[in-house]
Amino acid sequence: MLIYADFNGLEDSLVDADMAVLDLTGYGTLASLSRHGVQLRVGQRLAFSDFDGLEVVGEIGFDSARVSERSSGWYARFSRGEIKDVSPREHDFATHLCFKCRNDLKPYLDKVGRSFVETCPHCGTPVMAPLLPPN
Ligand SMILES: [Zn+2]
Repeated sequence: MLIYADFNGLEDSLVDADMAVLDLTGYGTLASLSRHGVQLRVGQRLAFSDFDGLEVVGEIGFDSARVSERSSGWYARFSRGEIKDVSPREHDFATHLCFKCRNDLKPYLDKVGRSFVETCPHCGTPVMAPLLPPN
């Protein structure tokens, strides 16, 4: 299982110079998590990749201080040296399956827009379900 992530958002870790932090936000990552039925948990290890073939396994963390309009607060943490450059990966951006009922939300999102607050018109599950803050 490979989750889409935007590696343009790679940052140096402020606490450990050898480590990098990748923000897990955006509809690409959201759709990918929803497709795989993954709700992020602190300490979980997941593999991420982008379209260009950058790939890394990271440990999931959440920092409420990171939460903003542009960030869910969730991130993956790993050593920069662990990032592999493999062959380009396919990620399906043509569908956005509901986390719960598995209906394709893309036509609905195309109509109402993407503001991280939408709910599934079929079952009412929030589009943000995979990225809900930890309890
Ligand atoms: Zn649904």
